[in-house]
Amino acid sequence: MDENPRIDFNRPLPIGKEIEYVTQAIQSGHISGDGQFTKKCSALLEQELGVPKVLLTTSCTHALDMSAILLDIQPGDEVIIPDFTFVSTVNAFVLRGAKPVFIDVRPDTLNLDESRLEALITPRTKVIVPVHYAGVGCEMDKVLAVAYQHGIAVVEDNAHGLFGKYKGKYLGTFGALAAQSFHETKNFTSGEGGALLINDPKIIERAEIIREKGTNRSRFFRGQVDKYTWVDIGSSYLPSDILAAFLYGQLEQREKIQNHRKNLWHTYEAGLKNWAAKHEVQLPVIPEDCEQSYHMFYMLMPNLDLRQKLIMYLRECGIYSVFHYLPLHLSDMGRKFGGEEGDCPVTEHVSDRLIRLPFHNVLTGSEQEQVIEAILEFKF
Ligand SMILES: *Cc1c(COP(=O)(O)O)cnc(C)c1O
Repeated sequence: MDENPRIDFNRPLPIGKEIEYVTQAIQSGHISGDGQFTKKCSALLEQELGVPKVLLTTSCTHALDMSAILLDIQPGDEVIIPDFTFVSTVNAFVLRGAKPVFIDVRPDTLNLDESRLEALITPRTKVIVPVHYAGVGCEMDKVLAVAYQHGIAVVEDNAHGLFGKYKGKYLGTFGALAAQSFHETKNFTSGEGGALLINDPKIIERAEIIREKGTNRSRFFRGQVDKYTWVDIGSSYLPSDILAAFLYGQLEQREKIQNHRKNLWHTYEAGLKNWAAKHEVQLPVIPEDCEQSYHMFYMLMPNLDLRQKLIMYLRECGIYSVFHYLPLHLSDMGRKFGGEEGDCPVTEHVSDRLIRLPFHNVLTGSEQEQVIEAILEFKF
Protein backbone atom coordinates (compact mmCIF):
# COMPACT_ATOMS: atom_id res chain seq x y z
CA MET A 1 0.00 0.00 0.00
CA ASP A 2 1.41 3.36 -0.85
CA GLU A 3 -1.50 5.37 0.48
CA ASN A 4 -0.26 8.72 1.73
CA PRO A 5 -0.71 9.34 5.47
CA ARG A 6 -2.92 12.33 6.19
CA ILE A 7 -1.40 15.76 6.40
CA ASP A 8 -3.15 17.63 9.18
CA PHE A 9 -3.97 21.30 9.16
CA ASN A 10 -2.60 21.56 12.71
CA ARG A 11 -0.71 19.19 15.03
CA PRO A 12 0.07 20.59 18.50
CA LEU A 13 2.96 18.45 19.78
CA PRO A 14 5.62 19.11 22.45
CA ILE A 15 8.72 20.75 20.96
CA GLY A 16 11.04 21.02 23.96
CA LYS A 17 10.77 20.21 27.66
CA GLU A 18 6.98 20.51 28.00
CA ILE A 19 6.46 17.03 29.49
CA GLU A 20 9.38 17.39 31.89
CA TYR A 21 8.02 20.73 33.13
CA VAL A 22 4.48 19.40 33.53
CA THR A 23 5.89 16.60 35.68
CA GLN A 24 7.88 19.13 37.72
CA ALA A 25 4.79 21.27 38.24
CA ILE A 26 2.83 18.27 39.50
CA GLN A 27 5.65 17.06 41.75
CA SER A 28 6.08 20.53 43.23
CA GLY A 29 2.69 20.20 44.87
CA HIS A 30 1.51 23.53 43.48
CA ILE A 31 -0.83 22.96 40.56
CA SER A 32 -3.26 25.86 40.96
CA GLY A 33 -2.59 29.27 39.41
CA ASP A 34 0.36 31.62 39.80
CA GLY A 35 2.92 28.92 40.61
CA GLN A 36 6.55 28.84 39.48
CA PHE A 37 5.81 28.18 35.79
CA THR A 38 3.18 30.90 35.56
CA LYS A 39 5.80 33.30 36.93
CA LYS A 40 8.42 32.07 34.47
CA CYS A 41 6.07 32.54 31.50
CA SER A 42 5.07 36.06 32.60
CA ALA A 43 8.66 37.09 33.24
CA LEU A 44 9.80 35.73 29.87
CA LEU A 45 7.07 37.59 28.01
CA GLU A 46 7.57 40.81 29.99
CA GLN A 47 11.29 40.81 29.26
CA GLU A 48 11.11 39.72 25.67
CA LEU A 49 8.33 42.11 24.67
CA GLY A 50 9.20 44.93 27.06
CA VAL A 51 5.70 44.98 28.58
CA PRO A 52 5.23 46.32 32.14
CA LYS A 53 2.93 43.44 33.17
CA VAL A 54 1.83 40.15 31.66
CA LEU A 55 -0.90 38.11 33.38
CA LEU A 56 -1.50 34.58 32.15
CA THR A 57 -5.17 33.80 31.67
CA THR A 58 -7.25 30.74 30.89
CA SER A 59 -7.75 31.96 27.30
CA CYS A 60 -7.50 34.90 24.96
CA THR A 61 -11.28 35.14 25.28
CA HIS A 62 -10.88 35.71 29.02
CA ALA A 63 -8.09 38.25 28.50
CA LEU A 64 -10.50 40.15 26.24
CA ASP A 65 -13.28 39.81 28.83
CA MET A 66 -10.93 41.29 31.43
CA SER A 67 -10.11 44.16 29.07
CA ALA A 68 -13.77 45.08 28.73
CA ILE A 69 -14.18 45.06 32.52
CA LEU A 70 -11.00 47.09 33.02
CA LEU A 71 -12.15 49.75 30.57
CA ASP A 72 -15.49 50.02 32.39
CA ILE A 73 -17.53 49.31 29.30
CA GLN A 74 -21.17 50.16 29.99
CA PRO A 75 -24.45 49.35 28.23
CA GLY A 76 -24.80 51.60 25.20
CA ASP A 77 -21.08 52.12 24.69
CA GLU A 78 -19.84 51.46 21.16
CA VAL A 79 -16.83 49.36 20.27
CA ILE A 80 -15.22 49.29 16.83
CA ILE A 81 -14.32 45.71 15.85
CA PRO A 82 -13.13 44.32 12.53
CA ASP A 83 -15.87 42.36 10.78
CA PHE A 84 -13.35 39.64 9.95
CA THR A 85 -12.38 38.14 13.31
CA PHE A 86 -13.20 35.47 15.85
CA VAL A 87 -16.38 35.84 17.93
CA SER A 88 -14.43 36.36 21.17
CA THR A 89 -13.17 39.75 20.01
CA VAL A 90 -16.73 41.04 19.99
CA ASN A 91 -18.34 38.90 22.72
CA ALA A 92 -16.09 40.35 25.41
CA PHE A 93 -17.62 43.79 24.89
CA VAL A 94 -21.16 42.65 24.13
CA LEU A 95 -21.13 40.82 27.48
CA ARG A 96 -20.77 44.24 29.15
CA GLY A 97 -23.72 45.60 27.14
CA ALA A 98 -21.73 47.35 24.42
CA LYS A 99 -22.91 47.75 20.85
CA PRO A 100 -20.45 46.36 18.29
CA VAL A 101 -19.71 48.58 15.30
CA PHE A 102 -18.17 46.43 12.61
CA ILE A 103 -15.45 47.94 10.46
CA ASP A 104 -14.59 46.42 7.09
CA VAL A 105 -11.09 45.12 6.38
CA ARG A 106 -8.43 46.05 3.84
CA PRO A 107 -8.34 43.80 0.78
CA ASP A 108 -4.55 43.35 1.07
CA THR A 109 -3.82 42.48 4.72
CA LEU A 110 -7.39 41.67 5.83
CA ASN A 111 -6.77 43.94 8.83
CA LEU A 112 -9.24 46.65 9.81
CA ASP A 113 -9.31 49.37 7.16
CA GLU A 114 -7.96 52.36 9.06
CA SER A 115 -9.27 54.77 6.42
CA ARG A 116 -12.82 53.88 7.52
CA LEU A 117 -12.26 54.55 11.23
CA GLU A 118 -13.15 58.25 11.45
CA ALA A 119 -16.55 57.75 9.84
CA LEU A 120 -17.56 55.17 12.46
CA ILE A 121 -16.70 57.19 15.54
CA THR A 122 -19.52 58.67 17.63
CA PRO A 123 -19.58 60.28 21.09
CA ARG A 124 -20.33 56.78 22.47
CA THR A 125 -17.26 55.10 20.96
CA LYS A 126 -15.15 53.71 23.81
CA VAL A 127 -12.73 51.24 22.28
CA ILE A 128 -11.10 50.26 19.00
CA VAL A 129 -10.00 46.62 18.84
CA PRO A 130 -7.44 46.00 16.10
CA VAL A 131 -6.86 42.32 15.26
CA HIS A 132 -3.48 41.63 13.65
CA TYR A 133 -4.76 39.09 11.17
CA ALA A 134 -2.32 36.25 10.48
CA GLY A 135 0.14 38.08 12.72
CA VAL A 136 0.62 40.95 10.25
CA GLY A 137 0.38 44.30 12.01
CA CYS A 138 -2.52 46.73 11.49
CA GLU A 139 -1.64 50.31 10.51
CA MET A 140 -1.09 51.19 14.16
CA ASP A 141 0.18 54.73 13.55
CA LYS A 142 -3.18 55.68 12.08
CA VAL A 143 -5.23 53.63 14.57
CA LEU A 144 -3.45 55.24 17.54
CA ALA A 145 -3.70 58.74 16.07
CA VAL A 146 -7.47 58.44 15.62
CA ALA A 147 -7.89 56.87 19.07
CA TYR A 148 -5.81 59.57 20.72
CA GLN A 149 -7.61 62.39 18.97
CA HIS A 150 -10.99 61.16 20.21
CA GLY A 151 -9.89 59.88 23.61
CA ILE A 152 -10.70 56.27 22.76
CA ALA A 153 -8.91 53.23 24.23
CA VAL A 154 -7.16 50.62 22.07
CA VAL A 155 -7.19 46.92 22.92
CA GLU A 156 -5.20 44.70 20.57
CA ASP A 157 -6.49 41.22 19.87
CA ASN A 158 -3.04 39.78 19.27
CA ALA A 159 -4.08 36.11 19.24
CA HIS A 160 -2.16 35.58 15.98
CA GLY A 161 0.64 38.02 16.45
CA LEU A 162 2.99 37.06 19.29
CA PHE A 163 6.55 38.15 18.35
CA GLY A 164 5.37 39.94 15.20
CA LYS A 165 6.36 43.60 14.84
CA TYR A 166 5.05 46.84 13.35
CA LYS A 167 7.70 49.48 12.62
CA GLY A 168 10.17 47.53 14.75
CA LYS A 169 7.90 47.40 17.82
CA TYR A 170 6.26 44.19 19.06
CA LEU A 171 2.57 43.67 18.35
CA GLY A 172 0.70 43.69 21.64
CA THR A 173 2.63 46.70 22.93
CA PHE A 174 0.57 49.44 21.23
CA GLY A 175 -2.79 49.36 23.03
CA ALA A 176 -3.42 50.02 26.71
CA LEU A 177 -4.16 46.30 26.75
CA ALA A 178 -3.54 43.35 24.45
CA ALA A 179 -4.80 39.78 24.47
CA GLN A 180 -2.75 36.71 23.51
CA SER A 181 -3.98 33.19 22.83
CA PHE A 182 -2.26 29.90 23.60
CA HIS A 183 -5.04 27.79 22.11
CA GLU A 184 -3.73 24.71 20.31
CA THR A 185 -4.19 26.38 16.92
CA LYS A 186 -1.74 29.21 17.72
CA ASN A 187 2.09 29.40 17.34
CA PHE A 188 2.63 28.62 21.05
CA THR A 189 0.18 26.57 23.04
CA SER A 190 -0.88 25.08 26.33
CA GLY A 191 -4.00 23.52 24.77
CA GLU A 192 -6.17 26.31 26.11
CA GLY A 193 -4.60 29.46 27.47
CA GLY A 194 -3.99 33.15 27.04
CA ALA A 195 -2.41 36.25 28.46
CA LEU A 196 -3.32 39.84 29.12
CA LEU A 197 -0.55 42.28 28.22
CA ILE A 198 -0.86 45.49 30.24
CA ASN A 199 0.95 48.44 28.73
CA ASP A 200 -0.69 51.09 30.90
CA PRO A 201 0.77 50.67 34.41
CA LYS A 202 -2.25 52.41 35.96
CA ILE A 203 -4.36 49.37 35.09
CA ILE A 204 -2.10 46.70 36.61
CA GLU A 205 -3.43 46.61 40.15
CA ARG A 206 -7.08 46.43 39.13
CA ALA A 207 -6.25 43.75 36.55
CA GLU A 208 -4.75 41.56 39.28
CA ILE A 209 -7.91 42.00 41.34
CA ILE A 210 -10.31 41.16 38.53
CA ARG A 211 -8.26 38.08 37.64
CA GLU A 212 -8.44 36.91 41.30
CA LYS A 213 -12.24 36.84 41.65
CA GLY A 214 -12.41 40.51 42.59
CA THR A 215 -10.14 40.09 45.61
CA ASN A 216 -6.86 41.77 46.53
CA ARG A 217 -5.22 38.36 46.95
CA SER A 218 -2.15 39.31 44.87
CA ARG A 219 -1.42 42.26 47.16
CA PHE A 220 -1.89 39.98 50.17
CA PHE A 221 0.70 37.51 48.87
CA ARG A 222 3.12 40.36 48.32
CA GLY A 223 2.60 41.42 51.94
CA GLN A 224 1.07 44.75 50.92
CA VAL A 225 -2.16 44.15 52.89
CA ASP A 226 -2.62 41.94 55.95
CA LYS A 227 -5.81 40.20 54.83
CA TYR A 228 -7.49 39.76 51.52
CA THR A 229 -11.07 40.55 50.75
CA TRP A 230 -13.67 41.25 48.07
CA VAL A 231 -12.92 44.67 46.58
CA ASP A 232 -14.25 44.68 42.98
CA ILE A 233 -16.07 42.56 40.41
CA GLY A 234 -14.03 39.74 38.94
CA SER A 235 -13.83 36.09 38.06
CA SER A 236 -11.37 33.20 37.98
CA TYR A 237 -9.00 33.83 35.09
CA LEU A 238 -5.89 31.99 36.36
CA PRO A 239 -4.69 28.95 34.45
CA SER A 240 -3.37 25.93 36.35
CA ASP A 241 0.40 25.89 36.75
CA ILE A 242 0.36 22.54 34.89
CA LEU A 243 -0.73 24.41 31.76
CA ALA A 244 1.80 27.15 32.39
CA ALA A 245 4.49 24.44 32.62
CA PHE A 246 3.55 23.15 29.17
CA LEU A 247 3.49 26.70 27.84
CA TYR A 248 6.89 27.49 29.30
CA GLY A 249 8.33 24.49 27.46
CA GLN A 250 6.95 26.00 24.25
CA LEU A 251 8.03 29.59 24.90
CA GLU A 252 11.58 28.44 25.65
CA GLN A 253 11.71 27.08 22.10
CA ARG A 254 10.51 30.35 20.57
CA GLU A 255 13.46 30.70 18.22
CA LYS A 256 13.19 27.18 16.92
CA ILE A 257 9.41 27.43 16.53
CA GLN A 258 9.47 30.81 14.81
CA ASN A 259 12.31 29.81 12.49
CA HIS A 260 10.48 26.67 11.47
CA ARG A 261 7.31 28.63 10.75
CA LYS A 262 9.26 31.25 8.84
CA ASN A 263 10.76 28.56 6.62
CA LEU A 264 7.39 26.97 6.02
CA TRP A 265 5.85 30.31 5.09
CA HIS A 266 8.54 31.25 2.60
CA THR A 267 8.56 27.76 1.09
CA TYR A 268 4.82 28.01 0.44
CA GLU A 269 5.21 31.46 -1.04
CA ALA A 270 8.10 30.49 -3.31
CA GLY A 271 6.40 27.26 -4.42
CA LEU A 272 3.03 28.84 -5.17
CA LYS A 273 3.89 32.30 -6.45
CA ASN A 274 3.85 31.61 -10.18
CA TRP A 275 0.87 29.31 -9.95
CA ALA A 276 -1.04 31.95 -7.99
CA ALA A 277 -0.28 34.73 -10.47
CA LYS A 278 -1.37 32.55 -13.38
CA HIS A 279 -4.71 31.62 -11.80
CA GLU A 280 -5.59 34.93 -10.14
CA VAL A 281 -5.08 33.54 -6.66
CA GLN A 282 -4.03 36.17 -4.11
CA LEU A 283 -1.23 35.30 -1.69
CA PRO A 284 -0.74 37.15 1.63
CA VAL A 285 0.51 40.73 1.40
CA ILE A 286 3.07 41.78 4.03
CA PRO A 287 3.53 45.59 4.15
CA GLU A 288 7.09 46.85 4.48
CA ASP A 289 6.45 48.16 8.00
CA CYS A 290 5.49 44.69 9.24
CA GLU A 291 7.50 41.73 10.44
CA GLN A 292 4.89 39.03 10.59
CA SER A 293 4.65 36.34 13.29
CA TYR A 294 4.26 33.53 10.73
CA HIS A 295 0.96 32.43 12.17
CA MET A 296 -0.61 31.02 9.01
CA PHE A 297 -0.40 30.68 5.26
CA TYR A 298 -3.62 31.53 3.48
CA MET A 299 -4.65 32.06 -0.14
CA LEU A 300 -7.59 33.90 -1.64
CA MET A 301 -9.11 31.86 -4.46
CA PRO A 302 -10.93 33.64 -7.32
CA ASN A 303 -14.35 32.60 -6.00
CA LEU A 304 -16.26 30.48 -3.46
CA ASP A 305 -16.79 27.59 -5.87
CA LEU A 306 -13.06 27.18 -6.56
CA ARG A 307 -12.26 27.51 -2.85
CA GLN A 308 -14.69 24.70 -1.98
CA LYS A 309 -13.38 22.54 -4.83
CA LEU A 310 -9.78 23.02 -3.72
CA ILE A 311 -10.62 22.06 -0.11
CA MET A 312 -12.41 18.90 -1.35
CA TYR A 313 -9.66 18.02 -3.81
CA LEU A 314 -6.93 18.40 -1.16
CA ARG A 315 -8.95 16.24 1.22
CA GLU A 316 -9.01 13.50 -1.42
CA CYS A 317 -5.21 13.82 -1.45
CA GLY A 318 -5.20 13.36 2.35
CA ILE A 319 -4.43 17.04 2.94
CA TYR A 320 -6.52 19.00 5.43
CA SER A 321 -7.02 22.66 4.64
CA VAL A 322 -9.65 24.94 6.16
CA PHE A 323 -11.48 28.20 5.60
CA HIS A 324 -11.71 30.91 8.25
CA TYR A 325 -13.98 33.58 9.75
CA LEU A 326 -17.46 34.32 8.46
CA PRO A 327 -18.48 38.01 8.36
CA LEU A 328 -19.62 38.84 11.89
CA HIS A 329 -22.25 41.35 10.74
CA LEU A 330 -24.10 38.60 8.86
CA SER A 331 -24.10 36.08 11.74
CA ASP A 332 -27.32 35.56 13.74
CA MET A 333 -25.95 37.81 16.47
CA GLY A 334 -24.54 40.35 14.04
CA ARG A 335 -27.96 40.72 12.41
CA LYS A 336 -29.51 41.38 15.82
CA PHE A 337 -27.20 44.39 16.01
CA GLY A 338 -28.47 45.55 12.62
CA GLY A 339 -25.99 43.87 10.29
CA GLU A 340 -27.10 43.66 6.66
CA GLU A 341 -25.75 42.33 3.38
CA GLY A 342 -23.36 44.85 1.86
CA ASP A 343 -22.29 46.53 5.13
CA CYS A 344 -18.74 45.21 4.89
CA PRO A 345 -18.25 44.25 1.24
CA VAL A 346 -14.55 43.40 1.46
CA THR A 347 -15.07 40.96 4.34
CA GLU A 348 -18.03 39.40 2.53
CA HIS A 349 -15.89 38.90 -0.58
CA VAL A 350 -12.76 37.66 1.22
CA SER A 351 -14.44 35.27 3.63
CA ASP A 352 -15.85 33.15 0.79
CA ARG A 353 -12.50 32.78 -0.95
CA LEU A 354 -9.98 32.21 1.83
CA ILE A 355 -8.27 28.85 2.37
CA ARG A 356 -5.60 28.10 5.00
CA LEU A 357 -2.97 25.47 4.22
CA PRO A 358 -1.47 22.97 6.71
CA PHE A 359 0.84 25.04 8.90
CA HIS A 360 2.24 23.92 12.24
CA ASN A 361 5.34 23.40 14.33
CA VAL A 362 5.99 19.80 13.25
CA LEU A 363 5.02 19.98 9.58
CA THR A 364 7.90 18.40 7.67
CA GLY A 365 9.54 19.55 4.47
CA SER A 366 8.34 16.48 2.60
CA GLU A 367 4.76 16.95 3.82
CA GLN A 368 4.87 20.54 2.69
CA GLU A 369 6.24 19.49 -0.69
CA GLN A 370 3.27 17.15 -1.10
CA VAL A 371 0.87 19.98 -0.33
CA ILE A 372 2.50 22.28 -2.87
CA GLU A 373 2.66 19.59 -5.56
CA ALA A 374 -1.00 18.72 -5.04
CA ILE A 375 -2.01 22.37 -5.40
CA LEU A 376 0.04 22.79 -8.58
CA GLU A 377 -1.90 19.87 -10.08
CA PHE A 378 -5.32 21.23 -9.11
CA LYS A 379 -7.54 21.57 -12.20
CA PHE A 380 -9.24 24.95 -12.52
C1 LIG B 1 -8.00 32.14 18.66
C2 LIG B 1 -8.51 33.52 18.70
C3 LIG B 1 -9.19 34.04 19.80
C4 LIG B 1 -9.61 33.20 20.97
O1 LIG B 1 -8.59 32.58 21.59
P1 LIG B 1 -8.88 31.58 22.82
O2 LIG B 1 -7.55 31.50 23.50
O3 LIG B 1 -9.32 30.29 22.22
O4 LIG B 1 -9.91 32.19 23.67
C5 LIG B 1 -9.56 35.37 19.79
N1 LIG B 1 -9.28 36.15 18.75
C6 LIG B 1 -8.64 35.69 17.66
C7 LIG B 1 -8.35 36.63 16.53
C8 LIG B 1 -8.26 34.35 17.59
O5 LIG B 1 -7.67 33.88 16.50
